[in-house]
Amino acid sequence: MTIQDAISNYLRHSGCKQQYFTTALIDCDGVLFDTMKNHTRAWVKLMKKNGIKCSRDEFYLYEGMTGVEIVKKKFLEGAGKVITDDEARAIYGVKGRYFLELGETHKIAGIDQVMEVLKDYGIERIVVTGSQQPSVLDRIDREFAGMVSEKRITGNDVRHGKPSPEPYMKGIEKAGAKANQCIVIENAPLGVQSGHAAGCFTIAVMTGPISEKDLYKAGADLVLPNMIALAEALPQILNPGD
Ligand code: MG
Repeated sequence: MTIQDAISNYLRHSGCKQQYFTTALIDCDGVLFDTMKNHTRAWVKLMKKNGIKCSRDEFYLYEGMTGVEIVKKKFLEGAGKVITDDEARAIYGVKGRYFLELGETHKIAGIDQVMEVLKDYGIERIVVTGSQQPSVLDRIDREFAGMVSEKRITGNDVRHGKPSPEPYMKGIEKAGAKANQCIVIENAPLGVQSGHAAGCFTIAVMTGPISEKDLYKAGADLVLPNMIALAEALPQILNPGD
């Protein structure tokens, strides 16, 4: 799909004559940092230790749910155990330790260019993540100092993680914007569903194993192969006169 087609489709569905974006709502794992490889490894280790069968691929599909939601889901489906939020939080803490043991992860290639373009166009940049992992959340402040707003939505701020529209709706509210003034930058199907359901122009960037087709199926308005392609597409998305 061309960028112009993606925008035209979105405008038609949202009932706007022309795009006027003021805000970018930006996912964290798989968008700011290449953390998903280690997250999925840590999840598999946690499940094995608890005798719960799983495949690594499934955790790419759960990306966007809060950590507590994933623990509760897997313990119910894999072991028939209903566990409380407090128990799930404690188990999720163990997963956090496994994640840290796997060592350092890096910024996603090209994300700095994306941030620069957003900044140049005066677009507010708000992180909206299902993560409740302190080690990851602290890094946002360190590695994107001055590049993202202090306004932020994390897994700790929502009752329902992605694919519920709640995280992105809270982001829209925090921005003081309307849904059709916001673009969402995502990498995961559940995150795309959430952004789309919240009414935002939802861009998926293929930073992991999920196919273009599956990201469109989840409701993406536009799917791009990498962050450089996004940085190049942004002027056309943000300024119809360009
Ligand atoms: Mg993500």
